[in-house]
Amino acid sequence: MRKKIVAGNWKMNTTVSEGVALAKAVAAKSVEVPAGVGLVVAPPFTHLVPVAEALAGSKVGLSAQNCADHEKGAYTGEVAVNMLTDAGCQYTILGHSERRQYYGETDEKLVVKTKLALEAGLKVILCVGENLDEREAGKHFEVVTNQTKAVLYTLSAEEMKSIIIAYEPVWAIGTGKTATAEQAEEIHACIRKVLADKFGAEVAEDTTILYGGSCKPSNAKELFAQKDIDGGLIGGAALKADDFIQIALSF
Ligand code: PEP
Repeated sequence: MRKKIVAGNWKMNTTVSEGVALAKAVAAKSVEVPAGVGLVVAPPFTHLVPVAEALAGSKVGLSAQNCADHEKGAYTGEVAVNMLTDAGCQYTILGHSERRQYYGETDEKLVVKTKLALEAGLKVILCVGENLDEREAGKHFEVVTNQTKAVLYTLSAEEMKSIIIAYEPVWAIGTGKTATAEQAEEIHACIRKVLADKFGAEVAEDTTILYGGSCKPSNAKELFAQKDIDGGLIGGAALKADDFIQIALSF
């Protein structure tokens, strides 16, 4: 049975002290969330160590929002995978659309980063999703299929056990426009088929696929009720502990 997960991407929000307070609130409320639902928060790099301390003893996992595409050395401003594990991370998000769009994150770079993260023992939350032009041109299945294949077809079935996919239509991120449950489900089913074609039905069935894009307490239930939607990657609503936990209670 694949795992249900609700992950909060804090993006470039909160100061360290605000982030620690938010993590403490999430950890305290996490006892309300059933054991079968995993919780993860992804604060900025500067917050990782104190947030790891704030989460200690709780069921809430810790994720980075990105990692470097090199192991170590002269790469000013970058953060390596072993720094993330040492800081207490079990996960890293990779390929978020904001990184693809504003920081030139390519599929080729994501292959390198994914390998490094997996070798370091991190689980990877790989984001895929079409932009508005691509959706309006009817290319959403093609774009998501290509993004998924470009990174995941380089992995083994064993490595796939450490992969979580987040389908995030770019037009729905931070816009208040959510994909309908039907629009999300058909892409999730497509991603699962792409996985089955390469790795077989068992790997496809066991892979957690999250939906992201203006997911909030008012729409999470309908989204999570879909057969192939296993939880959410949450941006704005993850900045309020009550909303984040409410979403995790929506299965
Ligand atoms: C995200 O950026 O991962 C996201 C889903 O953001 P929001 O929930 O704010 O749309």
